[in-house]
Amino acid sequence: MRNINLAGGRALEAHERVALLTVPAGLRPFCLLTHIEEADVYLASAVLPTLGLHCGQCNVSFDYDLVVDAPPDVIAAYKAYEAKHPLQGLGVATKRIEFGSAPLGIALGYPKCCSDMDESTKSHDRSSALRVLIEDKKGDFAAVREALANGELPQVATDRKEAWDRRFDHTRDLFPFALHTACDDCIGRGAVSPTGRLRDRKSVV
Ligand SMILES: [Zn+2]
Repeated sequence: MRNINLAGGRALEAHERVALLTVPAGLRPFCLLTHIEEADVYLASAVLPTLGLHCGQCNVSFDYDLVVDAPPDVIAAYKAYEAKHPLQGLGVATKRIEFGSAPLGIALGYPKCCSDMDESTKSHDRSSALRVLIEDKKGDFAAVREALANGELPQVATDRKEAWDRRFDHTRDLFPFALHTACDDCIGRGAVSPTGRLRDRKSVV
């Protein structure tokens, strides 16, 4: 892939280069490139299949368990908001995969402990964001539904998000080859943790 300058530089940031290489190296069946420039998606889509890889545009929507005191129609409006704002990227896989409702972290081959930490952080943060929106609208649920329909959901800084950011920095220091954010257990146990063992495999790449 270096020869066509896809994983070699211009089109992908360093982290995504490693992410992509893990797939043909057989370390995991799938990766999702979310920082690839739109102009390069065409190049990638043309070249990767010639190397025996499947690739295509992926839209990942999230379905978090919310802890919010709101009527079902507000929760439904929130879910519609999430569905309209998927995480988009170029998925690359060694074969066709049906993901169904598997969490993205598991589909990407991340350790379950870390994927669970990520999901629970995001559920907490989304719940906080929806609660803040409800407060902003002074409990007027019709106004909350309208705001969600218009794509409004406040960005909220939470302790959990800050803890996630700290883990992200620790992960980069401790596990340079990890492609996810490690959970506290992995950070505490280092090389013998599920994330540490991934590092050993990825360093082969
Ligand atoms: Zn972990």
